[in-house]
Amino acid sequence: MSTIIYPSPIFGPVKSRRLGISLGINLMPADGKVCTFDCIYCECGFNADRRPRQKRPSRQEVAEALEAQLKKMHDEGVHPDVLTFAGNGEPTSHPDFADIIDDTIALRDSYCPEAKVSVLSNSTFILRPDIHGALMRVDNNILKLDTVDPLYINKVDKPTGHYDVNRIIDAMKRFEGHVIIQTMFMKGNYGGESVDNTTDDYVSPWLEAVKSIQPMEVMVYTIDRETPAEDLQKATHDELNSIRDRVIAAGIPCTASY
Ligand code: SF4
Repeated sequence: MSTIIYPSPIFGPVKSRRLGISLGINLMPADGKVCTFDCIYCECGFNADRRPRQKRPSRQEVAEALEAQLKKMHDEGVHPDVLTFAGNGEPTSHPDFADIIDDTIALRDSYCPEAKVSVLSNSTFILRPDIHGALMRVDNNILKLDTVDPLYINKVDKPTGHYDVNRIIDAMKRFEGHVIIQTMFMKGNYGGESVDNTTDDYVSPWLEAVKSIQPMEVMVYTIDRETPAEDLQKATHDELNSIRDRVIAAGIPCTASY
């Protein structure tokens, strides 16, 4: 399967399905992927197949590369809609994540004050006060919650360390609405078992958790690129639309990306 490894620390700008013209900030090494999850649908591949040899970029390297790119885009008249922390793994695992967020907000304010700062995170570090504080300072705090079923999480998201979904949901509530929940819906099989989370068995308890979190928005999406696990299938438009409409009926804005 051909999966993607992103340049580091800056990639793009790219046109994102959900975010518009997005300049990517990748806090992981440029030559591989490492993450606190090992999702079977990860566009970067499995951790074991993509182990990096290089180090992560330092705080200073990130700030210098970001400033150089923002200057270049400014001179070319290209205006990013969003500066997005994403890439080859979990951005909040960088030891200087909170300081990097502050640097990024300062650079955004100088070069492109209309742009939003977004973080795509798998939520594994949100129990830490410094990470919570940093995510409170960004515009779009986009946190993954694919399901509330621990068996499904272990099968599909495959946390590499201890992960207690109920503690994560409690930590999501502590953002007091300053959070966007992002959920992958898909179908197919992995390891001889179904990984379909579009059925009511999965959607109803997930929706109850979402309602308890009271996020500013929910983004539901499905597989868009090649995945390291074979035999996965996209959720259909109708399935995603139906889930989206249930979220909206609960009074929470929701978008579906196919
Ligand atoms: S959380 Fe994101 S980067 Fe990490 S394995 Fe899952 S899809 Fe890949």
